[in-house]
Amino acid sequence: MPASKVFFIYAWLNPSYAGKLALLLIYYSSCVLTAILKPVFSILALVLLSTMSFTHPQARSWIDVKPGSDFPIQNLPFGIFKTRSKSPRAGVAIGEYILDLEVLYAEGYFNRTPLADHGNVFAEGTLNKFIGLGKAITRPVRERIAEILNTNNPELRDNADIKQKALVAQTEAQMLMPVHVPNYTDFYSSIEHATNVGKMFRDPANPLLPNWKHLPVGYHGRASSIVVSGTPIHRPKGQTKPDDAPAPVFGPSRSLDFELEVAFVTNANTALGQSISTRKAEEYIFGLVLFNDWSARDIQKWEYVPLGPFLGKNFGSTVSPWIVTLEALEPFRTDTPAQEPAVLPYLQFEGKKSYDIHLEVEIMPESGKGMVVTRTNFKYMYWNMAQQLAHHTVNGCNICVGDLYASGTISGPDAGSYGSLLEITWQGKNPLKMPDGTERKFLLDGDTVIMRGYCEKDGLRIGFGECAGKILPAV
Ligand code: CA
Repeated sequence: MPASKVFFIYAWLNPSYAGKLALLLIYYSSCVLTAILKPVFSILALVLLSTMSFTHPQARSWIDVKPGSDFPIQNLPFGIFKTRSKSPRAGVAIGEYILDLEVLYAEGYFNRTPLADHGNVFAEGTLNKFIGLGKAITRPVRERIAEILNTNNPELRDNADIKQKALVAQTEAQMLMPVHVPNYTDFYSSIEHATNVGKMFRDPANPLLPNWKHLPVGYHGRASSIVVSGTPIHRPKGQTKPDDAPAPVFGPSRSLDFELEVAFVTNANTALGQSISTRKAEEYIFGLVLFNDWSARDIQKWEYVPLGPFLGKNFGSTVSPWIVTLEALEPFRTDTPAQEPAVLPYLQFEGKKSYDIHLEVEIMPESGKGMVVTRTNFKYMYWNMAQQLAHHTVNGCNICVGDLYASGTISGPDAGSYGSLLEITWQGKNPLKMPDGTERKFLLDGDTVIMRGYCEKDGLRIGFGECAGKILPAV
């Protein structure tokens, strides 16, 4: 196919204004203009084409996407799923469906993409191989998926046989862990959360420790116990020391909590000794998931001095199944809070480094009468992801494909926007009244915690789906 024809089809399929203008330019350069103007118009058309994306806000899919859906064609998050007849494989969410990427690769739909030389990475049971190829490959592959799903593109739309093989209703699929997680780090980057906890456990007049505004505090968490949304969590047992007890006691935690967080997934294996600058950090971040850092406050309180969280945290953490790419979040970039005092040069950054992601948590008791207990936003984070990654690697610590870096509990400025029950009930002093008449200081057996996140602007909604887990009795 001649290049001009490829350009023409690309511009024709693309519904953006840039696409329409490129069409006109290609038309004039091919048949109307003088020899002098032809190359000028061709170059202009190429420049326009290079800025075009099939995930443009006006783009539509031939798959029906209901208003309010988390998964329009502009999102295309990646996940791993299986069904009764399909082995674990990669897919993207579109409306109420999953597009089976393993099938599309096998049928040749990625032959003209940079993925063609790498084999069917979508047949793997995790996304590690795919995202480890880096953005030079994953970006055009995502664009190609948007092209396949575009309402004007008949390639898959009009191929009933392959369409039937490649489209799976989400209700028919079981979502699995999207990545194998080699390493998990948890930060502590919300100034409101750190201040609230400091007020409760240390000095109300001086809640932040001296280092807090100079570096993004974090610790290395446990990767083996990270599970995908829908996996139940047993109430942990452990050693605690009630205030009125003369000695520690052993038993099930009596103050089990959630922590509302967002985690980013990295896409490279770096060498020991290599650092990642704030300027380059986003090239190493494939995308984001919702993250519930389940926390047993009573175990944590007794064990955490002097080395930090341990058994109060490592019994389980839950992630949402769809990794939303930074490309999908791009229209929702926003500033982070001003940092005062100024940070050291290696933590300085330019531009908008956060995203306007609305977050909420619902507690659903076994009675079925649930309640949203907090609403907050990712943009409140004091330290951004670029700073977190720059700090994490400034000493030469290497990162791996599939690593998870969680934000830390995301609290907002108001009482209705706190990211944990510890803060919402202020250590149980202000219990929540649930719609079924029960009270919550902390989580009860049978409670399901459901986290949701989405961006919304000018009628475009990019969502994360749900990050849910049910508390089962201690075993
Ligand atoms: Ca945490």
